[in-house]
Amino acid sequence: MGTTPMAEHDKGRAGAVDLPSLDRLLGTPGFQAALADFGHTQVVAALRSDLDARRAQARAGTLTHDALTPAAFGARVVATLTERNRATLRPVFNLTGTVLHTNLGRALLPEAAIESVMQALTSPANLEFDLATGGRGDRDDLIAPLLCELTGGEAATVVNNNAAAVLLMLATLARRREVVVSRGELVEIGGAFRIPDIMTHAGAKLVEIGTTNRTHAADYRNAIGEKTALLMKVHCSNYEVTGFTKSVDVAEVVEIAKPHGVPVAVDLGSGTLTPMERWGLPHETTVQETIAAGADLVTFSGDKLLGGPQAGMIVGRKDLIAKIKKHPLKRALRVGKLTLAALEPVLRLYRDPDHLPERLTTLRLLTRTRDEMAAQAGRLAPVLAKSLGEDYTVTAAPMVSQIGSGALPVEQLPSYGLAIAPAGGKRGSGRALARLEAALRGLPYPVIGRIADQTLWLDLRCLEAGDEARLSLQLAELRA
Ligand SMILES: *Cc1c(COP(=O)(O)O)cnc(C)c1O
Repeated sequence: MGTTPMAEHDKGRAGAVDLPSLDRLLGTPGFQAALADFGHTQVVAALRSDLDARRAQARAGTLTHDALTPAAFGARVVATLTERNRATLRPVFNLTGTVLHTNLGRALLPEAAIESVMQALTSPANLEFDLATGGRGDRDDLIAPLLCELTGGEAATVVNNNAAAVLLMLATLARRREVVVSRGELVEIGGAFRIPDIMTHAGAKLVEIGTTNRTHAADYRNAIGEKTALLMKVHCSNYEVTGFTKSVDVAEVVEIAKPHGVPVAVDLGSGTLTPMERWGLPHETTVQETIAAGADLVTFSGDKLLGGPQAGMIVGRKDLIAKIKKHPLKRALRVGKLTLAALEPVLRLYRDPDHLPERLTTLRLLTRTRDEMAAQAGRLAPVLAKSLGEDYTVTAAPMVSQIGSGALPVEQLPSYGLAIAPAGGKRGSGRALARLEAALRGLPYPVIGRIADQTLWLDLRCLEAGDEARLSLQLAELRA
């Protein structure tokens, strides 16, 4: 009979089709593995809906006999349940060229964090327990001394992310009062973090000063009044104002604020704990420099250039940090033990900057040499070219990557990778590229590239040596 539809006289009469009973199918050998893997409840539910689908096919006259063997039912149920039970958060290859890609999870954590997180996952820990006294401890104390040592701050606290850090700081220190910010620094960070909105939600009144391109010391001076709670500077993370510009640096803002007893807060965004130019990367303001310039509070992210887990740090004056820690929102925004377990070993790496490029994954990716990436591209290009056949041309090509997540937005890093263009000119090339991009995304280990200038770019900066074989195997099996 093969795959021929069932005879005409069966059509529209489901009863006439002898569908095997659910109980009988469950007893067949093909179902035993499924029952062991997925359990009775899931298998029965999947089988019921499969039987319903066959009944509908029978009515439509499209049911084939070989769809009715117990083995066929078993295979369909296993396929359905395998797909349904696949993890939704899955690892992917980040070949976008953006090292700290917010949508792909930002910083990858170093080896040092793995064991620490595994331990925290499976054993009780002194999260809020003072081992010296046996009394209650404070989870911030696990990490604050290290943060102070590395930044020069007097005190520190950690919350869920930098947006939370800014919100908590403003809610504590500026509720019903005024915060002075330059118009050139009223940033929007991807994912709906806007300084003016955060101000509103924190109950603070934003006092905008200067213009988009120019803000002067006098603007700060004139804005200070009775209701001023803070002077705040925000790092222009994801853009740069160039041309006829003027801004006032932290040290100068601190001088202006001091006689009035008004604290100065700096939202550094990414920030970093060590000078990046040492490794040939562009300078990004360090937290230490900002504290040294006199800032009373500095906020920054854990998973940007710092290279750790998602977290938001607030570092600075002891009295202000103490107030912040007492605010009820602090409890709502606090970090979990897994974050602290990951953060501590990452911070500790900064005590030995000489070894940082090998040990801190983010820095290792940012400092990879072009020769290394070019060699990878040279090996992978023929593999992909063979898979794609004559429809596409694949070239190992130089390209530029970015740090991402707002760090050093206009700086680009020379990189290398694969450039893929549809063969045969521009006609229909957009659709051919979109199809290929989707096929790469649909791989068991999804490959994420970037389309620009009628080319699909696979930047190899984030492909570490250990991952190349896996990518190569997948590319070899790709059928676009
Ligand atoms: C990234 C960034 C934020 C938000 O930090 P998250 O850790 O993503 O919450 C806030 N301010 C600035 C200036 C940033 O660059």
